[in-house]
Amino acid sequence: MSPNPETPIYLDHHATTPVDEAVVEEMKPYFTEQFGNPASDDHIFGSNAKKGVEKARERIAGVINCRKEEIIFTSGATESDNLAVRGMAEYAEKHDKGSHIITSVTEHEAILEVCESLEGDGFDVTYLPVDEHGCVDPQTIKEAIREDTVLISIMAANNEIGTIAPIREIGEIAKNNQVFFHTDAVQAMGYVPIDVQSTGIDLMSLSAHKIYGPKGVGALYVRRRNPKVKLQPLIHGGGHERGWRSGTLNVPSIVGFGKAVQLADEQMQERSQHVAELTTAMWERINTKLEGVVLNGHPEKRIPNNLNISFAGVENKALVQNLQPDIAVSAGSACTTGKVEASHVLQAISDEEDIWHSAIRFGLGKDTTQEQIEYAANQVIQSVNRLQKLTF
Ligand SMILES: *Cc1c(COP(=O)(O)O)cnc(C)c1O
Repeated sequence: MSPNPETPIYLDHHATTPVDEAVVEEMKPYFTEQFGNPASDDHIFGSNAKKGVEKARERIAGVINCRKEEIIFTSGATESDNLAVRGMAEYAEKHDKGSHIITSVTEHEAILEVCESLEGDGFDVTYLPVDEHGCVDPQTIKEAIREDTVLISIMAANNEIGTIAPIREIGEIAKNNQVFFHTDAVQAMGYVPIDVQSTGIDLMSLSAHKIYGPKGVGALYVRRRNPKVKLQPLIHGGGHERGWRSGTLNVPSIVGFGKAVQLADEQMQERSQHVAELTTAMWERINTKLEGVVLNGHPEKRIPNNLNISFAGVENKALVQNLQPDIAVSAGSACTTGKVEASHVLQAISDEEDIWHSAIRFGLGKDTTQEQIEYAANQVIQSVNRLQKLTF
């Protein structure tokens, strides 16, 4: 047995991450000395705050290879997803450009629920199926495109099972058919390099708190050239962010977001390798010691910090409870936790109810240690053995 490391052990990095110390340091002055409003920059207070915001914008633009004017700061990826999909739909409707949207059944709730609300407003949405690994076949996207299609929204990496989408192929199909392409890249950021030019992405949602930045801040990349994307704003007011998103900017958080993106980019290789080694070790240990375990998602095309495992005959909520207070993991995704219903992602990749109800999502992070993983794997093995004995 491995020694008992310091607990609790946090393995829920898809839900959120701690703020990096370097990010906190960068944010600090913007709460106090540099407290100005960037929209009121006729004086040094405002212009310094504005400089902080523009530096963050430049950093993010540099990492995803766009111009800084193409980054809109939001309150998080939920808002970014809403602005991308509803903003696009409402603009298209107003200018008679079409009313059809293509997405997939495994998208984040922030996309799916916007799409459902748009259906209520008379829009038409095609929800494409995925294969057993959670992949959308680009061919099905091509076939779903119609005269009136305005947007394709497919996430870059799934927040429950980690599957990475063929973004480049989808971008090419979108371009060839003159349809805009949005991707939710919240979980991909930091593990998958994303260049919006070479991948043909027109809109992209990002969130700071999934990459060691603060909560309550995100961004939407909006292409302004070749072709120019037009959106209907959702939040009206003082015309901030070029009129696309009014409201005084959350300066400290934006500054921290910029730093977090920079670090995620600089440390991508190192972080990816680290979590890949740990997830591999954890999976091997669990898979050798237990019968009837299934790795959900794609065997290779997955973000390296994700392990989504079903344990035959074990109720996932009971397993999560059994791991308390030592190990923090999630049964399904954070957003569906609390609801009794099975994850829509697992339902999309499998017909077996046991797979849905016995799935645990392990989300590792850059600071997760080998010791923690050994301990966690052993605890999981013990708990599963105990719970399976109760069931059979
Ligand atoms: C967390 C998450 C979101 C929501 O981001 P917030 O910034 O918390 O609103 C959207 N999409 C995916 C894939 C996520 O993982």
